[in-house]
Amino acid sequence: MKETRKKAERCASGEDCPAVAEIGRPEKLSRHNKDDYCYRCRTRRADEATSSRERRVQGGLPRVSV
Ligand SMILES: [Zn+2]
Repeated sequence: MKETRKKAERCASGEDCPAVAEIGRPEKLSRHNKDDYCYRCRTRRADEATSSRERRVQGGLPRVSV
């Protein structure tokens, strides 16, 4: 009998995972990692979300800073 079906063993970013450039495959997820993405991908995604939000805020401001 196998244990209950496990989630993916490797980062859900697939080819976009930074680990692909280093080890040729997506980062292996720790069993303690409850997410589908490895730590680096989560950090990167958070950075992208933050920067795009800042960009949107800046773009929404009615002043021009050039
Ligand atoms: Zn990853």
